[in-house]
Amino acid sequence: MAFKSDIEIAREANKKPIQQIGDALNIPGEHLLPYGHDKAKISQAFIDSVQERPDGKLILVTAINPTPAGEGKTTTTVGLGDGLNKIGKKAMICIREASLGPNFGMKGGAAGGGKAQVVPMEEMNLHFTGDFHAITSAHSLLSAMIDNHIYWGNEAQIDQRRVTWRRVVDMNDRSLRQITSSLGGVSNGFPREDGFDITVASEVMAILCLAKNLKDLEERLGNMIVAYRRDKSPVFCRDIKAEGAMTVLLKDAMQPNLVQTLENNPAFVHGGPFANIAHGCNSVIATTTALKLADYVVTEAGFGADLGAEKFMDIKCRKAGLKPDAVVIVATVRAMKMNGGVAKADLGAEKVAAVKAGCPNLGRHIENMKKFGVPAVVGINHFVTDTDAEVQAVMDYCAELGVEAILNKHWELGGEGITETAKKVVELCESGAANYAPLYADELSLAEKIETVCKEIYRADSVVMDGKILNQLKEWEAQGYGNLPVCMAKTQYSFSTDPTQRGAPTGFDIPVREVRLSAGAGFIVVVCGEIMTMPGLPRVPAAESIRLNDEGLIEGLF
Ligand code: ADP
Ligand code: MG
Repeated sequence: MAFKSDIEIAREANKKPIQQIGDALNIPGEHLLPYGHDKAKISQAFIDSVQERPDGKLILVTAINPTPAGEGKTTTTVGLGDGLNKIGKKAMICIREASLGPNFGMKGGAAGGGKAQVVPMEEMNLHFTGDFHAITSAHSLLSAMIDNHIYWGNEAQIDQRRVTWRRVVDMNDRSLRQITSSLGGVSNGFPREDGFDITVASEVMAILCLAKNLKDLEERLGNMIVAYRRDKSPVFCRDIKAEGAMTVLLKDAMQPNLVQTLENNPAFVHGGPFANIAHGCNSVIATTTALKLADYVVTEAGFGADLGAEKFMDIKCRKAGLKPDAVVIVATVRAMKMNGGVAKADLGAEKVAAVKAGCPNLGRHIENMKKFGVPAVVGINHFVTDTDAEVQAVMDYCAELGVEAILNKHWELGGEGITETAKKVVELCESGAANYAPLYADELSLAEKIETVCKEIYRADSVVMDGKILNQLKEWEAQGYGNLPVCMAKTQYSFSTDPTQRGAPTGFDIPVREVRLSAGAGFIVVVCGEIMTMPGLPRVPAAESIRLNDEGLIEGLF
């Protein structure tokens, strides 16, 4: 059977005008700020006006350790939102916006797939409502103001060798990872080493996604550390007096974007922090607003549950006061096979033994979710190439663990393909079984927090931190940052720091290479292994085959 591509399906969508989607949520017309016919932002005044309403139930979609293809978290999030609506519930979804850069490298979008997508998917994957451009601009304004400050006499006594604020651009461009700026003579300033990250890695992005409102945003921006003096004391963004103008640039970007699924159900698509050096979830403002507008809100966390769900629980929920009611752990037969040792090129053939061998990866994620006190169900994202025996192997494994696993066909069928999981999720939410608690207390030392995540979630034997790192952590504790959560940055492909260690590895240590303070976002980034904050393009970038055809339609993007 031949299947249509994601973009073909998206183009055939029977979209409703965005006003109708807003009406269904009882958002008055004057508070819906349309960006064209099928996208709108929600006014701050409206968001303020719904604060006293009770919250709906919050459902997190997370996953096993993925294969490089991505295992369908977004697709499942979208499908489950449609499935809940299909069984008569008032549900909406919250997902992240797409980063422009990767689109031109590898083919693939961020709007879901098959019959479970949000639309307009092309725009969502391109400029959308301009939020990321606004973030790039706000970030760049601060960059410019720092060098300008140094140029005009450096009153804040910034040590030019210790400017930690790097520049950003929303493009995969490895040539900018390490640069020298201000070359070319006296009038161009003081030459110094600098470099670029991709926009989604900006601390401004992390802040936009954690801030409760514009006032909170401005305060957090002011708290960012941009450089150090020769005496090693920090220079803050507020010392450069940039946070006010940055907030002005971000005013509209702070408002959640409303779009719809292929089945005309509401979706907020807002924010998109990196899942390694940041927390990898859509904005707090979108999630908290959605909880006031719908009875069930389905949201996604990046990467596998060891990183994405842990940060969702320990950073986003802790900081925003969210209490998730249920977790759906997405598993695919393909990923089980890969975790069981099958190479990517051989995923097509039936390999029941390999599926079984890979299942302990899923098992560990199931156990881990229990540690946050939130009940879970396994959602098997069905690929048409999966065989019945392979699916049954995953089902049997889960049954042995006493966790329900349900086969979902939302990619092929839309909401009607995932109603069983929707019913199960409702049952879990209404059972009152959830008793969310973060994994570790705020009061633990920073080193103890790192150790707790590494041992409890990754199952490492020990954490290796040298004296320099331990001293740095102690210094931050002395400066009042000890109560912050930790944001782990490691490979998404393994519980360990070695991407080739699939399944449920044991007998490994987690070496901490570096720690960074994101004082505005409010977490300590713990870098374990090589972490890339400026991706490169592959030998044959997708951009080479992207073009507008004679009908003015985009080709080659998806
Ligand atoms: P994640 O959010 O986990 O990264 P996505 O939901 O974005 O993954 O899906 C990644 C890609 O896999 C998308 O291009 C999507 O169309 C495809 N995909 C997801 N589920 C299926 C499925 N059941 N069958 C075929 N392709 C799928
Ligand atoms: Mg996704």
